[in-house]
Amino acid sequence: MTAKSAAAAARATVYGYPRQGRNRELKKAVEGYWKGRTAASDLHATAAELRRTNWQQLAGAGLDEVPTGDFSYYDHVLDTSVMVGAIPERHRAAVEADALDGYFAMARGTQDVAPLEMTKWFDTNYHYLVPELGPDTVFTADPAKQVAELKEALALGLTARPVLVGPVTYLLLAKPAPGVAADFDPLTLLDRLLPVYAEVLADLRAAGAEWVQLDEPALVQDRTPAELNAAERAYRDLGRLTDRPKLLVASYFDRLGDALPVLAKAPVDGLALDFTEAAAANLDALAAVGGLPGKRLVAGVVNGRNIWVNDLGASLTTLGTLLGLADRVDVSASCSLLHVPLDAATERDIEPQILRWLAFARQKTAEIVTLAKGLARGTDAIGAELAANRADLASRASSPITHDPAVRARTAAVTEADARRSQPYAERTAAQRAHLGLPLLPTTTIGSFPQTGELRTARADLRTGRIDAAGYEERIRAEIQEVISFQEKAGLDVLVHGEPERNDMVQYFAEQLTGYLATQHGWVQSYGTRYVRPPILAGDISRPEPMTVRWTRYAQSLSDRPVKGMLTGPVTMLAWSFVRDDQPLGDTARQVALALRDEVGDLEEAGTSVIQVDEPALRETLPLRAADRPAYLTWATEAFRLTTAGVRPDTQIHTHMCYAEFGDIVQAIDDLDADVISLEAARSHMQVARELAAHGYPREAGPGVYDIHSPRVPSAEEAAELLRTGLRAIPAERLWVNPDCGLKTRAWPETRASLENLVTAARTVRGEL
Ligand code: GLN
Ligand code: ZN
Repeated sequence: MTAKSAAAAARATVYGYPRQGRNRELKKAVEGYWKGRTAASDLHATAAELRRTNWQQLAGAGLDEVPTGDFSYYDHVLDTSVMVGAIPERHRAAVEADALDGYFAMARGTQDVAPLEMTKWFDTNYHYLVPELGPDTVFTADPAKQVAELKEALALGLTARPVLVGPVTYLLLAKPAPGVAADFDPLTLLDRLLPVYAEVLADLRAAGAEWVQLDEPALVQDRTPAELNAAERAYRDLGRLTDRPKLLVASYFDRLGDALPVLAKAPVDGLALDFTEAAAANLDALAAVGGLPGKRLVAGVVNGRNIWVNDLGASLTTLGTLLGLADRVDVSASCSLLHVPLDAATERDIEPQILRWLAFARQKTAEIVTLAKGLARGTDAIGAELAANRADLASRASSPITHDPAVRARTAAVTEADARRSQPYAERTAAQRAHLGLPLLPTTTIGSFPQTGELRTARADLRTGRIDAAGYEERIRAEIQEVISFQEKAGLDVLVHGEPERNDMVQYFAEQLTGYLATQHGWVQSYGTRYVRPPILAGDISRPEPMTVRWTRYAQSLSDRPVKGMLTGPVTMLAWSFVRDDQPLGDTARQVALALRDEVGDLEEAGTSVIQVDEPALRETLPLRAADRPAYLTWATEAFRLTTAGVRPDTQIHTHMCYAEFGDIVQAIDDLDADVISLEAARSHMQVARELAAHGYPREAGPGVYDIHSPRVPSAEEAAELLRTGLRAIPAERLWVNPDCGLKTRAWPETRASLENLVTAARTVRGEL
């Protein structure tokens, strides 16, 4: 192997592409099928057409090898469960009766049968369906989907590489099936699973695959020696198969760490590594093992999960370093392009100058092709692209949008004291008690009330000009009035205005903060047919004017009880946006925190005594590797305190979190220095209350007693029982009574009944104290 021949062979590829189509045709077809409006044959035809369009676009852009099998009607992990025959017992009849309906039943459940659990795909906002396995699981190969999609691509005359979730990651993402002991380790099924993968690989080879990619992102997380050992065995066994295609083992989202030497030694034919954020660590580790002689290295140098143009010069430098470390160096994105929107060129509302800073899937593909060309033929071959890229990067770096002197000066002047409240928790809590005069076990809600059709219509009418700002204001005020009057009647203690004006808890604020961009078509799959359009945090952040004060003030004018102000916290604002990559995340968080701090100050000024800053994403943004967590938690908790610490001692700061196990971040929750936290807990029967108690959490807490994820109305007795359970962990002086989360997805009838029961439960339990 010479560096020169490795370079000359450089090719361009990607691991996966957005599935939805230009106008989200897939979403429409799948939802149409669910509603009985689209025939199965039409759904299949739409899907095949979308795949064909994608492949032709990718090949047309100059990719040498297109991925297949990454397409999915719902989720690629569910597709893998089907491929290995891991159909849960409760879904088997449905799958046997009709494969497609059974598939959707596993994804979404039916009237009588629960779906598979859904959870986040590593640290992205994509959600996968969790495989359910047990000691009795029997795997059987069902390669039909993979083989069919490969054949489709080959029939178009393309070089295609099937992409599969690797066996180790598949097992590590699985959980014990219902009825199986909780300590069952799915990895013990590896020996049973490998022959099924062997069969699929043989079938793919027979169908014409030269290479097959096995994705092992679970290996970028901290793994035990036993888990690394499983990876070693898996790739030794698969590598030794005689009837197999060439194997490319792909890693992404972080550095491979201890798994790198394992895979480097394995008898496979290539490795794909992330050279974006993990570049330095992966480079060092590769050098330490002496490179990958005889193997293909796919270098993920284009970030597959942000939307910024690549620094082509810097990428070429990385690629240059990699030459000589492998037999062949190919160019790719760091992960599947599933995590970015399709095409920046369709954005009409973003200034052309700024649009040049953005790269969605289509633009990233072009970057990959350019880099491969530059690597193979020298930089002269891509002179024009490099010059244009340098100009775009320079325009971004010197733009007043990314460098607002006022914001910079303010952030630089932040002191430790700005992030510290004027009195410690133990002292200010007395001031708050006196100021608020709440009963024991105070009742409240998390913020949003049902987002009715009328509210959505009002927003749409405002957008299309059917009503003017005054007309819209009137509708929102009417809603606030109704929400306040209901809460007073129901007997809640701390009221909310109901958030009727908010389309989304991040977007609402992003639209009002300078430095954020909105897209028209920037859809990204969150799960199944649900797509989100994350705002783009592009520049320095400031708040030109108050964002929520008028609604909260109006709500407060209608009641003598305290009305809580409601804000989305800085960490969540970052987590659910595309964030800038030209400065540390902590710096960006600090800017957002200062903008929110102004809002907190204005709310207090307007007479708000209770202010809630939601941080549901605090836990989910936790870095994949434990070594990176302390640094993250330091800036994340500092940003929260910077948002909230400027208030008077008698102003009560609340926070809210959901979707998570909190056990491992109780210290961080404490470090937020909030006065009250509400948490999701109803389904886990107050587990979180015990976790807080076990860590000696000293503050007030409201573990949810009403599961808002279903229309079911909890009885007063059931809620009271949860409260009694909560009281065993948290003393009455510090226990709040609230639902698990906001009520925006609920309808009014169940919301009314549930909250009335919740108040009754609080009263009953107060009587027992
Ligand atoms: N205040 C928000 C609401 O009630 C919180 C939502 C969330 O935690 N996801 O909707
Ligand atoms: Zn929540």
